[in-house]
Amino acid sequence: MVITVMNQKGGVGKTTTSINLAASIAMKGFNTLLIDLDPQANSTLSFLEREDVPGSLYDVLVEDGDIKDVLVESKVRKLTVVPANIALAKTESKLLGELDAPFRLKDTLAAIRRDFDYVIIDTPPTLGLLTVNALVASTHVLIPIQSSYFALEGTDDLLDTIEKVRARPNPDLQVLGVVVTLHDKRTVLGKDVLDRINEAFGTKVFDTVISKSVRLEESPAHRESIFAHAPNSTGAAEYYRLSEEVLSRV
Ligand code: ATP
Ligand code: MG
Repeated sequence: MVITVMNQKGGVGKTTTSINLAASIAMKGFNTLLIDLDPQANSTLSFLEREDVPGSLYDVLVEDGDIKDVLVESKVRKLTVVPANIALAKTESKLLGELDAPFRLKDTLAAIRRDFDYVIIDTPPTLGLLTVNALVASTHVLIPIQSSYFALEGTDDLLDTIEKVRARPNPDLQVLGVVVTLHDKRTVLGKDVLDRINEAFGTKVFDTVISKSVRLEESPAHRESIFAHAPNSTGAAEYYRLSEEVLSRV
């Protein structure tokens, strides 16, 4: 299973969801690969120190390097990371005009696909070539939506991109589900937004809602998932439940 976590809106919880979902699945005993496709490298730096980053997919997608040279074992058992770095930001311009540009990640993954039970891909907040590469290489898409007044703004463009990828390069791509993040259940607005997201996406919305929590916000600074940083927190319980739902849907 290859799951892309995507939303072209910034700061909606893509990275937080990617790292904690990947950690949770690995902790269940599955060989898990977390791919960071965002030049900001937030997923990468949630597990690794900058000096331990050997390179990024840029070296593979653009420079024809071997993906095995950029695999890094994380502190979490069974969790391997393909790190990102700022070089990734040049991918789109470097691959301009290359006919196989959208397929490069898929082709690259073929070499190591059998080594992993689950692959989770964190994407940048754009619908550009990196995100399209992720969608072409994936079996499923998971969409985090921030519980906010503007929650549904932009989702048409997002679904349109998924449809375009489904129409040609990857007809088998499925929307795994929508997860509501950064939720504040104490407010009327929070409740209202949840209702609207449920109306828009129906059964695609995961039962598990991720609450706003300081523990989740601070765990990357400790280079740890929420399960290592605050195992008894609400955030840990919520991401654990989300991973159970994800595994039951794939
Ligand atoms: P970008 O589009 O920049 O890649 P993103 O969609 O990956 O952003 P995150 O980096 O996961 O979003 O989250 C944005 C910010 O909100 C981060 O500082 C993160 O620590 C914080 N955050 C994410 N989820 C929560 C949460 N449930 N509670 C509190 N803070 C959160
Ligand atoms: Mg991110």
